[in-house]
Amino acid sequence: MSDQKFCFSCGQKMPASASFCPNCGQRQPQFQAAVPATPAAVITPTVPVPPVTPAPVQSAPTAAPQAIDLKNFGKALDIDAVNRYRQALGYTSPDNLIIWAQHLPDMKMYLLLGAFSYLTSKQYMISFEDDGILFLGFGLTYFDGKNAFINFNDVKKLSFKNIGIAYHLTVATQDSKMKVQVNRFIMGHPWQAANVKILAQRYHK
Ligand SMILES: [Zn+2]
Repeated sequence: MSDQKFCFSCGQKMPASASFCPNCGQRQPQFQAAVPATPAAVITPTVPVPPVTPAPVQSAPTAAPQAIDLKNFGKALDIDAVNRYRQALGYTSPDNLIIWAQHLPDMKMYLLLGAFSYLTSKQYMISFEDDGILFLGFGLTYFDGKNAFINFNDVKKLSFKNIGIAYHLTVATQDSKMKVQVNRFIMGHPWQAANVKILAQRYHK
């Protein structure tokens, strides 16, 4: 009677039907959900080989939930680092749009429930994927592993509102809401201005 499963990357418990880990954003292998629940909660780790981590550094070969050293991907504010990390998590679309966003302190109360409850970082690199929105949390410099993926099918509201000096991106599901500030540009990172412009055309009304 196990309709739960565990993320093969971070061990987070989640519904067997979940395609994405609510904790780290890792895509879950489909066969786990398809196999008619093994009665015991003990999941024999048929650990799928994680998608090719670009490994400049040798990572521990046999550690059970493989510990990704997040620093290996590089500084979070770097588009190439974001793409390396995305790919390691199983997100491979080449058409993704990436923006940097800051947490709004007054949003805390919204974050306690639902899909966004793991997002407690100060800053995010947000990647608009083919099928949803990937939030990659980070602190000062490096990714912190607090991620979430919201499938577009679960999005009830998506707005990108001009507040003058910046934009507010709001993403709401049935039971959860996330709002972040998106600056129009970042010094030395021209992709921010370019991608903000595209998002504004796409979502700002
Ligand atoms: Zn996980």
